[in-house]
Amino acid sequence: MADRYAVIGNPVEHSKSPLIHAEFARQTGQDIEYGRILAPIGGFADSIGAFRAEGGRGVNVTVPFKEDAYLYATRRTQRAELAHAVNTLHFLADGNVLGDTTDGVGLVRDIVGNLGFTLRGKRILLMGAGGAARGVIQPLLDELPASLMVVNRSADKALALRETFPAIAACGYDGLGGQSFDVVINATASSLNNDLPPLPDGVFAHGALAYDMMYGRETPFMRFAREHGAAVVADGLGMLVEQAAESFFIWRGVRPETAPVLAIFRAA
Ligand code: NDP
Repeated sequence: MADRYAVIGNPVEHSKSPLIHAEFARQTGQDIEYGRILAPIGGFADSIGAFRAEGGRGVNVTVPFKEDAYLYATRRTQRAELAHAVNTLHFLADGNVLGDTTDGVGLVRDIVGNLGFTLRGKRILLMGAGGAARGVIQPLLDELPASLMVVNRSADKALALRETFPAIAACGYDGLGGQSFDVVINATASSLNNDLPPLPDGVFAHGALAYDMMYGRETPFMRFAREHGAAVVADGLGMLVEQAAESFFIWRGVRPETAPVLAIFRAA
């Protein structure tokens, strides 16, 4: 019988993860089944328990359960501890549950590997202070940028991140005036509501990359970036495929090739 995996979330029917993992499995010859679990709010642990009882081997975790998954794990990687979030659970043979987060490595691989944009020595602006932002801070710092500024609508949340990540700077949007950046990453949920955080006109330095973690359509942030001088504008589809590949590797010990899978989804 094929090993079983799933993505768990609420909502979850929109998730592309089953299609991505089916492609990875086909490409690498791994015998897996990958489905979707719609868990009720407050019902994460029960849903996971039922899936494990049916022989589930691991899950990807999406909104709003990344913190539940963090708490559910009996062992966590260092990057999951720093992010205080888990997007990958691996049910180990000894009964332990390993929690990891692959979002950060997914983002960095997309920017550096797929988009060919080096982060070393660059001035990075990260918008947002929620789970997605928190998960990518350490992987971004590991690329040795010149600086990493975190900006958030509620400035206090950005400032609080400095306790875990002393190397970052933090402010509210009114603190950005006059500064420009080589890389601007939108890790806010604003695109979901077709909103645009109040960025100053000159925020993109010459040759800048604008990256929206949202995917599937042109967002107000992407439009703003095109109109205000960003040289490269990207959505988060590559990050999605790259974080999935890292999860696949954690479960199966095999690293799938992401480029052909990304090409399929871009074409669709
Ligand atoms: P959270 O709910 O944890 O955080 C939301 C963040 O967005 C907060 O910082 C919030 O600010 C900010 N925000 C929300 N609305 C606005 C607005 N109108 N203007 C300015 N700031 C706003 O969400 P997540 O961090 O989990 O997710 C953020 C985004 O990242 C989502 O769109 C998600 O789809 C995407 N994502 C994409 C991934 C990929 O693989 N491509 C992976 C993970 C996430 P405040 O604190 O002031 O409320």
